[in-house]
Amino acid sequence: MSTFETLHISDLWIKKLQKQGIKEPTPIQEQAIPSLLDGRDLIGQAQTGTGKTLAFLLPILEQIDVESQTVQALIVAPTRELARQIADETHKLIRNTEQYRALAVYGGQDVFKQIQRLGRMPQIIIGTPGRILDHVGRGTLDLSELRTLVLDEADQMLQIGFLPEIEDIIEAAPVDRQFVMLSATMPPKVEELAKTYLRNPVEVQVEAESI
Ligand code: ADP
Ligand code: MG
Repeated sequence: MSTFETLHISDLWIKKLQKQGIKEPTPIQEQAIPSLLDGRDLIGQAQTGTGKTLAFLLPILEQIDVESQTVQALIVAPTRELARQIADETHKLIRNTEQYRALAVYGGQDVFKQIQRLGRMPQIIIGTPGRILDHVGRGTLDLSELRTLVLDEADQMLQIGFLPEIEDIIEAAPVDRQFVMLSATMPPKVEELAKTYLRNPVEVQVEAESI
């Protein structure tokens, strides 16, 4: 059995997790974290509630270059609610660290306030497809230095009809980025998207009842 230590997660994050009562990695975390820390692309399938957020978030935090004032990780979620949840989980971890900055950008928030906050150089952006592209189009979100792109709830994303937006986001990111896709189910459309854009991905699959 792995621990967060044996998965090479830093003490800083382990302590923050412990404060939230999180002591052991879930199976999806155990399987995904090593490959993500290696910089591999990954497609992960696991039911809701299995801990997929930390599975991609911890490797992102480990790989952030705090000296660099660029957007390094982009997490795309299908709905405001999901984007907000991921942002909350991120902020819970980076609170009081100072060097780490994350920002949620989704529709319904004041766009000019977001632009102001984007100017504070967050390294991690969490958002919904439309608002992310809005900022890319305005030139207020620069994805040219992106290292990791996460597509959360890929099945929901395609079901809503976000494929064109997803492809535009992929186009705005560098070719040489880590690409991570998470999904509760694996319909053909999700497999096709993965086949088109992931490079030699690690495939991780976890059955229900993992926590
Ligand atoms: P998913 O994205 O797979 O639906 P989440 O990442 O939202 O699941 O996690 C579901 C819940 O489990 C959250 O409340 C989260 O804080 C908690 N959780 C995540 N990882 C662990 C862990 N290793 N141990 C205990 N609880 C965890
Ligand atoms: Mg999730």
